Amino acid sequence: MIVTLSETAAILASAQRVVITAHGNPDGDAIGSSLGLMHILRSLGKDARVLLDDDIPAIFAVLPGYDIIGRPSAEEEPLEADLVVVLDTSTDRTGCTLQAVKAPHLLNIDHHQTNDASAEYTYVAPARAATAEIIYDLTRELPVKMTKDMAMCIYTGLATDTGFFRFSNTTSHTMRAAAEMLDLGVEPNVISESLEQKPYKTVRDIGEAISMTKMFADGHAAGIFLDEATTARMQSTEAFIGMIRVIQGVDIAVVLKVKEKDICRVSMRSKGIDVSRIALQFGGGGHTRAAGCTLLMPFEDAKRTICEAIVKAIREHQDAQTKRENP
Ligand code: 5GP
Ligand code: MN
Repeated sequence: MIVTLSETAAILASAQRVVITAHGNPDGDAIGSSLGLMHILRSLGKDARVLLDDDIPAIFAVLPGYDIIGRPSAEEEPLEADLVVVLDTSTDRTGCTLQAVKAPHLLNIDHHQTNDASAEYTYVAPARAATAEIIYDLTRELPVKMTKDMAMCIYTGLATDTGFFRFSNTTSHTMRAAAEMLDLGVEPNVISESLEQKPYKTVRDIGEAISMTKMFADGHAAGIFLDEATTARMQSTEAFIGMIRVIQGVDIAVVLKVKEKDICRVSMRSKGIDVSRIALQFGGGGHTRAAGCTLLMPFEDAKRTICEAIVKAIREHQDAQTKRENP
């Protein structure tokens, strides 16, 4: 059932024990919006905690509450709660969290246009740059006094999902929300310096990955394709896509890596072509300009499959453009 922002606030207000979770491979928005909402609910006297079924990168240690993020366990007795809140994804990408918690109600808050609205209550706002921006909206619906701790978490979600306020999803509303967070004491450099730090090896890996870049679709696409052995050697592949996204003439950038045998993870970025539609074809999702999916096939097959889908999307985009120019 789709709910409004004020109904979302009412659902949160009526629960006492709340478990907050988000997607695996958690990013700044998943972690920032989760911890932000946790601090907000705790300030309202609630028993709120964050459970994430994945490792939490140490770069997020700058965020208040990082140390108390829990990991759900499907083996232990389920944790009892009044409400589970899934943030920044549909309910499917939460690992074992939904099995590890027993709660009568499920609320999903997200900004992805591909959200499947399968939760009991779903609030989706695709016009918001980050789920953290929706958490900010909620602070105006709840009787909450904002603190620096809340602000640091919300700011991190806003900053990371907008590429530090550079991507097309950045709106004046995003900037106003960020400005309020600065008024509450957030120091942008403290957040960015923590998030940007990388081990020496990762910087070397970025160099190696860039040198592996393949151009295709007549220069309209660029990809980095990491087979099983290469993926295993590299600690973090997160930064790769941003490096090739900027190549002149490239409409779609893709990074494919082998997570496990016959399980390939795909990340895509575009300058306007809807890559969430490509991701949806393979059971993934995301936004127009940033999307991802998992391909359950060997590396070479996955590489061919995603490249064909990208070439097709670019061709369709070009055909539509030609039609618009010569009706
Ligand atoms: P990234 O490439 O950074 O992993 O993801 C880009 C965007 O697509 C993010 O907003 C992310 O949440 C979404 N996304 C990535 N992979 C998947 C997926 O497998 N399923 C869905 N629904 N969304 C995804
Ligand atoms: Mn997000």
